[in-house]
Amino acid sequence: MGKNLKFNRRGFLKSSVLGTTGALIGSKAYGNAFTGNDPVIIRRQLGKTDIELPIVSFGVMRSDNAALVKSAFDMGFVHFDTAHGYQEGRNETMLGEIFKTMPREKVILATKVGADGVNRQTGEPGPGTTKESILEKFELSLKRLQMNYVDILYLHGVSNRNLALAPQVMEAFSELKKRGKIRYAGMSTHQNEPEVIQTAIDSNLYDVVLTAINFKHGMADQIKEKAALAAQKGIGIVAMKTMAGGFMDKERQHPINCSAALKWVLQDENIHTSIPGITSFDHMMQNFSVMENLNFTDEEKANLEEAKLVAGLYCDGCNQCVAQCVKHLPVNEYMRAYMYTYGYRHYENAYSVLDDIGLSSNPCADCSACTVNCPKGFQIAQRIADVSRLTDMPKELLV
Ligand code: SF4
Ligand code: SF4
Repeated sequence: MGKNLKFNRRGFLKSSVLGTTGALIGSKAYGNAFTGNDPVIIRRQLGKTDIELPIVSFGVMRSDNAALVKSAFDMGFVHFDTAHGYQEGRNETMLGEIFKTMPREKVILATKVGADGVNRQTGEPGPGTTKESILEKFELSLKRLQMNYVDILYLHGVSNRNLALAPQVMEAFSELKKRGKIRYAGMSTHQNEPEVIQTAIDSNLYDVVLTAINFKHGMADQIKEKAALAAQKGIGIVAMKTMAGGFMDKERQHPINCSAALKWVLQDENIHTSIPGITSFDHMMQNFSVMENLNFTDEEKANLEEAKLVAGLYCDGCNQCVAQCVKHLPVNEYMRAYMYTYGYRHYENAYSVLDDIGLSSNPCADCSACTVNCPKGFQIAQRIADVSRLTDMPKELLV
């Protein structure tokens, strides 16, 4: 189950809780927070890197709350995950401001840069992606982060070998490693994950894979098999999308049991850490409790079984829909935007996904009947119509 280590919750309580969050932690929900009994948390080695991490890290993507991130650091979260594109750069800038006064070696910082103009069929990067363009983006990330290096740089949103092994991408990442600007190279993937993990194993370049995985993922077994192989070969595995969309319904009346969902992922020891998106102190404390104990309660088991039975909001990118659609729409991208909109209420991110696919209005409006049969039971045409309405909003109202 990995190493166990005493964790300094007292430091967090003293420096943060009594300040910003005193009211929250002093409430009944955190009744035992002041007992002084430091918890024992589980840590795991990130593949063959020299990084050992608590099994829960901090996904910063949806957070714009510097006080929350600072508190997480004080509490003992050490690994923070962002990306060049999150909040149009403001996410990296916020982290830069927070960490500039802290000892650099105390923080494990991961960011991501993406390729431009990726061909949706072949996965190959477009002509705008050159070694120089990747280096340039990364330099901007470093500047925003106010750092000389990052611990992990991921190639963002990889769905097949062609992108991961494109010569210009590999040259850029190799050069950054040689120059000491990145300690480790990685790839993030939320589609075709088993192939991407296998590519990391074969690549002789990538040290870490950040993969989508959760209890509702149709390829969870295959991802776990590849993660086991990768872990044997020394590749670090980080999990994302662990909450499967956060809610079972678009009205957000039926939340996914987040602790149970996170435990489900982390019970596999080949998953070394996870980056659930943390947006509130409640979330943070809930995730903290998972670091101490991965055993399900009876209620958690029942909650997961119940959530497996409903369509939910999480699209696992199986891509069966694209060939069925008369217009060959990138349906999985629409469904990702749908999850960001209704599950996370993260309209900016949803808008950015829709912007990337060039959406201007509902593409299903002139289709007499939808020919797509999604194995998850999503009503595709209705969901696309719902989420397309975002593009009617002026962008500045969403950011
Ligand atoms: S919408 Fe359904 S069929 Fe399409 S990728 Fe998502 S889960 Fe698969
Ligand atoms: S309704 Fe939309 S998703 Fe369905 S077949 Fe028509 S264009 Fe494709």
